[in-house]
Amino acid sequence: MFDSVTTKLLQKNFKLLPIIICQRSLARDLDDVMATVFSREKLLVVADINTDEVLGKRVFSALKSRFEPQYVLLKNAEATQEAVDYIRAHTHSCGALVAVGSGTVNDLCKYAAYLDGKPYVVFPTAASMNGYLSANASITVDGYKQTVKAQMPKAVFCDISVIASAPERLNKSGLGDSLARPTAQFDWLLSHILFGTPYNSVPFELLEPIEGELFDSARGIAMGDSKCIELLMKSLLLSGLGMSMAGGSFPASQAEHMVAHAMGMLTHRDEHKGLAGALPNLHGEEIGVTTLVMARIQEQWLRQTEGGGLRSDTFPHDKIVELFGQNVATKAKEAYQNKLDLKQSGNANIEQLQKIMISPAKLEAILTAAQAPTTIEALGWQQVDFNHCLTYAKFLRDRFTILDVAL
Ligand SMILES: [Zn+2]
Repeated sequence: MFDSVTTKLLQKNFKLLPIIICQRSLARDLDDVMATVFSREKLLVVADINTDEVLGKRVFSALKSRFEPQYVLLKNAEATQEAVDYIRAHTHSCGALVAVGSGTVNDLCKYAAYLDGKPYVVFPTAASMNGYLSANASITVDGYKQTVKAQMPKAVFCDISVIASAPERLNKSGLGDSLARPTAQFDWLLSHILFGTPYNSVPFELLEPIEGELFDSARGIAMGDSKCIELLMKSLLLSGLGMSMAGGSFPASQAEHMVAHAMGMLTHRDEHKGLAGALPNLHGEEIGVTTLVMARIQEQWLRQTEGGGLRSDTFPHDKIVELFGQNVATKAKEAYQNKLDLKQSGNANIEQLQKIMISPAKLEAILTAAQAPTTIEALGWQQVDFNHCLTYAKFLRDRFTILDVAL
């Protein structure tokens, strides 16, 4: 699956590495690949109305000869606590879960599996995000999107022909999420240099050998070329492993994610309105654009900086309540205090930061080649909302980023 250097790095850093199988087609030996993980467990296969047709039914019937599968078809797949409870209600008599899907189905299963202490495996149906091999999930509880601890899968089985046939927006979204590597690494490293917070370069060493080729494949990804899609899938899996290794999303999610999440938390905005005004945006579509914005801010800041610590030491409580609501403000205040407690122990090393960056022009060219959104207008976002989020996102999370020093 991976080259020998990458495999060695993974073996060195993981006691127990999930099984990863990537084939052009898994059609002939679906139950054989499953037998690499399970012996005779009762399995619960979970799909939604989209993934049911493309792979769910096929996985379910292939498992019948060797296992005793049950099937749950999610009618309205949203990653909510209610959907998690619904899945858990069906897993009483099952020993393990089999997720067939991408973002939402995977998040629901990995969280349900975690709560019940049951193993799970996943058949991705799109290369849309990097959470297949991470140990957390994004679940909406009482209207708030939260990152919760979740189960790592025992195995990921990628049928590249299925993934390459996914709606092109999904795979382009995976590319957009991958683009955040340089801006996230910049923020994570900057925090480390200035404040001595933990940092690990291995997640980036995993991605480095394939990143150039991946970014050169933007056009092919948009066209559903199976070689390019396989490369994207590998990169997303490695990104997930990097997050697991780092004990959090640090290597793949910093200011560019914070601003996009803040847009989703604005109390007056309908999150379901996005791209072209009607269709909701996909995660990676938003991240592609916010990455561009952050790359420009980082580049500009490096040109002017003399080092720098936190720009703001007071928490703007009333403004946060006005924009994001009382609940968010209460939690955010605590998180921000952690940043105020950081003691600066160094100054920005410009050369070290420059080495890991990709220029905004190059990032924009990649998104353009994929015909993915490159502007906030293309996402259906209002400039005034976005400016608020650029200014106030840093108060919502304890992660130290470029937003703390540049704005
Ligand atoms: Zn992401």
